[in-house]
Amino acid sequence: MREAINTEEARKCFAADPEAPVKCVARKTVRKVCQSLEEAEAFFDYMSKPAPATNEIFRFFHCGLCVKEKPKELSPREWAQLEVGWTLHGLQIWCKRHECNVCHIDFEGHQHPANLEIFQRNDLGL
Ligand SMILES: [Zn+2]
Repeated sequence: MREAINTEEARKCFAADPEAPVKCVARKTVRKVCQSLEEAEAFFDYMSKPAPATNEIFRFFHCGLCVKEKPKELSPREWAQLEVGWTLHGLQIWCKRHECNVCHIDFEGHQHPANLEIFQRNDLGL
């Protein structure tokens, strides 16, 4: 599959064969298979902007034990008992119900851009 790392490359790929999908790669690691130039342009445009403060989650973290025990009448969101917080290594997701680690991301000493808009609001007194 052809690969494009910016809008200009995607434009060339679709000009060569408008029917063939193109694997678009942004920031070296974020990949999306685009079926059209419009989709590729939207992807590169989205990835060129800072992380928004809206809910952009497309795949949720879950505790595997909680998933097994979830009552059928409740949604995963209603059943989840997760805590998220900073650690010395990075960011950890912890299951309160089972007192276990769900995910612990090690930033390996690197700092990454983050949207902390809620902490910058003066009206909250944070
Ligand atoms: Zn759990």
